[in-house]
Amino acid sequence: MRLQFYNTLAHQKEEFVPLRPNQVGMYTCGPTVYDYPSIGNMRAYVFADTLRRVLEFNGYKVKMVMNITDVGHLESDGDEGEDKMALTAQRERKSPWEIARFYANVFLQDMERLNIKKPSVLAWATEHIAEMIAMVQELLERGYAYETSDGIYFDISKYPEYGRLAGQKLEDRLAGARVEVNEEKRHPADFALWKKAPKEHIMQWPSPWGMGYPGWHIECSAMGRKYLGDLFDIHTGGADHIPVHHENEIAQTAACTGQPAARYWMHNEFLLIDGGKMSKSLGNVYTISDLMERGFEPLSYRYFCHNAHYRRQLNFTWAALEAAQKGLLSLRRLVQGSAKQPTGAGAAERAASFREDFLAAINDDLNLPKAIAVLWEASKANLGRELYELAREWDQVLALDLCTGAVEEDGPLAREDLPPEVRALVEERDAARAEKNWTKSDALRQQLQEMGYVVKDTPQGTEIKRA
Ligand SMILES: [Zn+2]
Repeated sequence: MRLQFYNTLAHQKEEFVPLRPNQVGMYTCGPTVYDYPSIGNMRAYVFADTLRRVLEFNGYKVKMVMNITDVGHLESDGDEGEDKMALTAQRERKSPWEIARFYANVFLQDMERLNIKKPSVLAWATEHIAEMIAMVQELLERGYAYETSDGIYFDISKYPEYGRLAGQKLEDRLAGARVEVNEEKRHPADFALWKKAPKEHIMQWPSPWGMGYPGWHIECSAMGRKYLGDLFDIHTGGADHIPVHHENEIAQTAACTGQPAARYWMHNEFLLIDGGKMSKSLGNVYTISDLMERGFEPLSYRYFCHNAHYRRQLNFTWAALEAAQKGLLSLRRLVQGSAKQPTGAGAAERAASFREDFLAAINDDLNLPKAIAVLWEASKANLGRELYELAREWDQVLALDLCTGAVEEDGPLAREDLPPEVRALVEERDAARAEKNWTKSDALRQQLQEMGYVVKDTPQGTEIKRA
């Protein structure tokens, strides 16, 4: 079936055609590991993982590369500000290497909790300094870069297509740039490929330009190229990366190869918190661990993400997460309850039609809200065991542990819902309790237990649940 994605570079939905048959090369911008990843950060990785799973569901073999930025980069997307890794290292009185290792492990654990598959290649920036230096050299030799007293810069005026991804003209970009403090830069929007390090700078490496450290953007270009080649299929990241980080990545790679690194550039929108921005000062930067402390299962967050299209902003509230968890648990209960049921009459034909609807939804630019709606429809269609089979297939994309995860706890059963013979025993037991005949009431409890019912005496009366 046709697979279509919204390609930010083309500013429209396009049919997906891979460079090589049956194979997809994909790069995802990973985290800078100097702090706990927020649930907003994790939305980007749920999206990238879902994309990978959709490709695999369609029969593609996916090579997925993700970077871990374990070298400090600067406070802003530009070249000013302080090194975030250095700031945390100072605050926590640890070496930047320890900081990076610690927060990278937290990130990898959160990925696992969200059923995000491990990338085929996890590329640590500090292990690819040589590749970055080589690419900076190549850019200098090709005349796209120049040296100043504090580093090597990319000359964006040499790359007329700069701004294509964000749909911004180069002249506007140049005119709109902030007043520049660095007078050696040829254009205000030129960005650093390599920075020369002052002695006290915390992480630095030898280079042809003395001791220094790489700019953030060159990391992704160098590592993407190393593992996926001059041109690969898909590059993903958050929408905030479009105007600077990804524009710069494209410029760097294209200046070396003549190709915009990837054919399809895909971006997920932000997560809002209570309708606003997530920020440290508002104290609303939640992590997956925060959700767990409040009694939520991490996969409830994944289910919550599936209920909005990745290109739309998604508003997080605790009430919405509560509703998501409830929904997920009841879905699982329906699915798991169907495992031992016989297949309903005509169920196979109806399941086939649900299969088509599900595939059409995910292949239409990852329309997960629609796919979830199809799952709900199927769960109410009396398919019997066919529902279990569908859920098992679809969970390869949804990754919600539909067939194995915890289900909601049974509520007490109303007396009128009990089978007559069970109801008769319960009433007999009520009478025995009223007469304080504990021997008889205990024997009846035992008898009910053997029939698959749990009896619990509460101040509000006797509750009957299925065992
Ligand atoms: Zn990147």
